[in-house]
Amino acid sequence: METENDFTEKVSKFFELEGILSLSIDGDNEGFFSWNNCDCCKSKLGGNRFDCSGYNEKAKAIQAGYQVCEDCIQYIYNGELPGLG
Ligand SMILES: [Zn+2]
Repeated sequence: METENDFTEKVSKFFELEGILSLSIDGDNEGFFSWNNCDCCKSKLGGNRFDCSGYNEKAKAIQAGYQVCEDCIQYIYNGELPGLG
């Protein structure tokens, strides 16, 4: 059973490892179904993935090509944790 803390920890770990401070959806794509692990929380559940990119302040470069699940998007954009409500 995954707890909320595990989730937020995975997300912050991802940001830390990638050296990015934020993540945003590329353009206004509405996502696509995929069985690939979410790059952010590593979720193995099939579901919507969004193409995302983040800005690496140290490298002063945009890092693109992340495939991020809906849970992470909700959390990153709205601060909403998965499975609540
Ligand atoms: Zn995720």
